[in-house]
Amino acid sequence: MSFPSWLSQLYRGLSRPIRRTTQPIWGSLYRSLVQSSQRRNPEFSSFAVRTNTCGELRSSHLGQEVTLCGWIQYRRQNTFLVLRDFHGLVQVVIPQDESAASVRKILCEAPVESVVQVSGTVISRPAGQENPKMPTGEIEIKVKTAELLNACKKLPFEIKDFMKKTEGLRLQYRYLDLRSFQMQYNLRLRSQMVMKMREYLCNLHGFVDIETPTLFKRTPGGAKEFLVPSREPGKFYSLPQSPQQFKQLLMVGGLDRYFQVARCYRDEGSRPDRQPEFTQIDIEMSFVDQTGIQSLIEGLLQYSWPNDKDPVVVPFPTVTFTEALATYGTDKPDTRFGMKIIDISDVFRNTEIGFLQDALSKPHGTVKAICIPEGAKYLKRKDIESIRKFAADHFNQCSLLGKLRLECADLLETRGMVLRDPTLFSFLWVVDFPLFLPKEENPRELESAHHPFTAPHPSDIHLLYTEPKKARSQHYDLVLNGNEIGGGSIRIHNAELQRYILATLLKEDVKMLSHLLQALDYGAPPHGGIALGLDRLICLVTGSPSIRDVIAFPKSFRGHDLMSNAPDSIPSEELKPYHIRVSWPTDSKAERAH
Ligand code: ASP
Repeated sequence: MSFPSWLSQLYRGLSRPIRRTTQPIWGSLYRSLVQSSQRRNPEFSSFAVRTNTCGELRSSHLGQEVTLCGWIQYRRQNTFLVLRDFHGLVQVVIPQDESAASVRKILCEAPVESVVQVSGTVISRPAGQENPKMPTGEIEIKVKTAELLNACKKLPFEIKDFMKKTEGLRLQYRYLDLRSFQMQYNLRLRSQMVMKMREYLCNLHGFVDIETPTLFKRTPGGAKEFLVPSREPGKFYSLPQSPQQFKQLLMVGGLDRYFQVARCYRDEGSRPDRQPEFTQIDIEMSFVDQTGIQSLIEGLLQYSWPNDKDPVVVPFPTVTFTEALATYGTDKPDTRFGMKIIDISDVFRNTEIGFLQDALSKPHGTVKAICIPEGAKYLKRKDIESIRKFAADHFNQCSLLGKLRLECADLLETRGMVLRDPTLFSFLWVVDFPLFLPKEENPRELESAHHPFTAPHPSDIHLLYTEPKKARSQHYDLVLNGNEIGGGSIRIHNAELQRYILATLLKEDVKMLSHLLQALDYGAPPHGGIALGLDRLICLVTGSPSIRDVIAFPKSFRGHDLMSNAPDSIPSEELKPYHIRVSWPTDSKAERAH
């Protein structure tokens, strides 16, 4: 059975989705991905009433009696019908003779996208009528029986008309959107990569897949959590922002190599490309150092990477946090292109140009530049003006030059220069982060740069007691094409140090973490871990414009499920067992009255 030809077939059958310019030839892409990950072809028709999939039939099947199930893709002059399933398209001949009148009626009257079952014989197409563009183009099905399994009403949008759907409509009718080639491809590729990751971690490296609770309690610091009411008055569960505490406790429990495809929840409000619930490949292991975790992740990505892409080259380059900020103006640099930030203060040391002199006379004042390759050729006067405006708007943010670098890259690309090759995957480790950052809302207080369980850099431990702001950590981030796709750290396994950081430096209520502090005192092994953001990773691999395109049922930008209308209101009667009453904001009263 030739497996994934369905993709190329389906692709030709459906209209081309809007995607970045580099979307490759899907058929070959999927074929190589699947071939790389399957020892044998899966049985696509086992346990089902069909004998074959629509996309798999070839001349080698001539004469076979088959039963197919699928959706009506289109019908031509009541003589042919094209049937589609996830595997591809096949042409079905609508019988014209009187004896087959009932079959003809079913096949001619069923609306497009109805789901039908047909049984018949695989025959060759008449000479000259083969379709070389269609993998099943040499054959067709001579139908004997047909059954309308379910009729389709008029659709809110055409399945093949990818271009015209707004995202809101796609999310409202997600189950229809999932029939599109693009969503089929994204979700199947995601499944394949996760499968390979499991194989690598569990079968090749002895990791244990362990589920951890999603009803938990608040964790101090970090992202805002979703609350779940309980029947005990005033008591709430929290949905975990990650399985961080549990995975550390598993290390204490001797499960020294843990992994989980973990659902995480963060109530961070609406931000583009974030989801209130998302998935991490969550990993923790004992007796490991930073380089051990980095090598594990490099191996994991190399192993699970789709075969048709350029192979992942390891080891990934590493920069320190300080270098990243100095060279790229961000801790998640896109290293597919240069345009590095250069310090040219020395050149202007004796300048008489007023504003430069002014800048250099300030404490830590510097003059920095970005060289835009062929800028004079590509950038127009109005581009320079927009760069100037951008700089003025973002003045005094230290991330200004990093943003400006990306802004210039955008401008160059709109003018036709290819700077960020979307087929290139540029991984980068960022290491030696500071352990603490000033709190946004009160810069005199500290917050963890990663999370409070991150161990300090071994050579900076003394700074915790003198100048904690200067202490570096054993925190590492993985960046891909300018996106943070993972982060982790070596953890504190000493209860006293953990308590000092929580209570004295971060001013957190240690009682909330007494279970963890206690566990560290009972022979906790040295340990560390990492989590990869699966949605973002798959989004980059598939070249999708949004992480919503690689999640089967995502929430909208505002965190709503547009299909079911979650979150929804609950009658006050049903809130009683939870001892909860809604205090309605005044301006929503009028709205509720309607
Ligand atoms: N739990 C961390 C996070 O979600 C990752 C880690 O430190 O392993 O960012």
